[in-house]
Amino acid sequence: MFEREINDLQNELESHYKDLHEHPEKGFHETRTAAFIAKELKSYGLKVKMGVGLTGVVAELDSGKPGKTLMMRADIDCLEIQEQTDVPWKSQNPGLMHGCGHDSHVTMLLGAANILSRHKEAFQGKIRFVFQPAEEGTPADAWALLKKAGYDTTVQSGSLQMLQDHVMDGVDGCLVMHVQPQIPFGNVRISKRNAASSSDWFTIDIHGKGGHGAMPHKAIDPLPVAAQIINELYMIMAREIPASQTSAFTIGVCNTPSAVWNAVCDRVHMEGTYRNFNEGVREHIAARMEEIVTSIAAAGRCTGSVQRVKYYKAVLNNETWSSRVAGYCRDFLGPDHVDYTEEPSITSEDCGCFMEKAPGVYFWFGIGTEPDQPPLHSPRFYLDPKILVGGVRMHVNNALHLLADMNAGVL
Ligand SMILES: [Zn+2]
Ligand SMILES: [Zn+2]
Repeated sequence: MFEREINDLQNELESHYKDLHEHPEKGFHETRTAAFIAKELKSYGLKVKMGVGLTGVVAELDSGKPGKTLMMRADIDCLEIQEQTDVPWKSQNPGLMHGCGHDSHVTMLLGAANILSRHKEAFQGKIRFVFQPAEEGTPADAWALLKKAGYDTTVQSGSLQMLQDHVMDGVDGCLVMHVQPQIPFGNVRISKRNAASSSDWFTIDIHGKGGHGAMPHKAIDPLPVAAQIINELYMIMAREIPASQTSAFTIGVCNTPSAVWNAVCDRVHMEGTYRNFNEGVREHIAARMEEIVTSIAAAGRCTGSVQRVKYYKAVLNNETWSSRVAGYCRDFLGPDHVDYTEEPSITSEDCGCFMEKAPGVYFWFGIGTEPDQPPLHSPRFYLDPKILVGGVRMHVNNALHLLADMNAGVL
């Protein structure tokens, strides 16, 4: 639908994408990006709300006819990494890069807002365009900004800050898309249910008593204690989590700060993450970690402590919605271009709290043009701007079908 009009946007979309890519901003610092988005939305005749969740932007398109409200989200922040590509539109901000494709999400959603605002006759109800800050987490220097503005400083996520500003009030359903270089250009992958896992970060510290390596009996060595703790922590996954529950647990850091080879160290530091799709499993792991670390440390005459940083909740697709969206995409892209799968996606994404408020779908949109294309979060992440038109086409197609089905009571 609106094929020619969307194709005519190609140059504009490329110029938006390149501009955003050249000027990446990290979480809760997206002021230039927000101004860029707001200016565009206003030029389509939309009323714009800024400062939603500190730096987010929201606009609502009202068809003028009664009906449901569909929310569509793009995230707008970048990563704190140094870009290593040679594209002419390379990041101009040192140490910052749009390495997760959020600049393309903004561009595609703006394109869809542009087209749909010209065609209010094509749907009933409303579409709320949500541009979310800080999907990648809250940078250290953002806490003071959030505190000053009166936001909750106990949560990590841009979506939760937006909820405090009532971004989901009156929304009947939501649609969230993320680009993915590991999926062929223009294809989509939709998880039936488990679209993105929850994510927690933990640190563990075991304190003993340092001493001479020749006289370990006069020291208290935290290193063998740490080894036992590692084994026991991995046993949680093997013996305590039901086999039916998808779950991952990884200790990625284990070191002995300022240790030397011929001495007993005084401290072991560990860091890691666990991911799953069930809040019960998530809390079980957190509680058992605490018990295992403190009790094994005590048995070894050490002290042990765990610090947990709760990142995102799991993103759970509504199964009726995911099967519908897979159907629209099959009709639109051809059946071979849609992977509708039971397989869970065990990366994390900051939109689960939106889907607790209203049913919805989070899905992947392929941007793979080479077999070994750098993944998301790589400093060499690359996206061919020609994909942008395809993303707009898909957004418009999905939005119109979703609203029609929502208004018909099918969804
Ligand atoms: Zn990311
Ligand atoms: Zn991302």
